[in-house]
Amino acid sequence: MSRGAAARCPYCKSPGRIRSSEEVSLLHRDVYFDCTSDRCGHRWKAQLSFVHSIATPVEQGSDVHLPVTPERYRRARRDGEPPPTPVPA
Ligand SMILES: [Zn+2]
Repeated sequence: MSRGAAARCPYCKSPGRIRSSEEVSLLHRDVYFDCTSDRCGHRWKAQLSFVHSIATPVEQGSDVHLPVTPERYRRARRDGEPPPTPVPA
């Protein structure tokens, strides 16, 4: 996916333009798109959800426990370090 093109229209493949978005929760957002092709006119709703952290912040809040990328778990195990953050079930 190129920069600036968050999503393409599934009908005509033109870039989609974000019309609005709505926070459902801190980790989930509904995003509303308009197709940029005047000949198409498709509008759609997509979802943006947190999957896992790629790099954890230097100073983490003690009440925040988010999953981290599986590669960090494998690296920590290989290097004999404790896992970075617990992964919720
Ligand atoms: Zn379209």
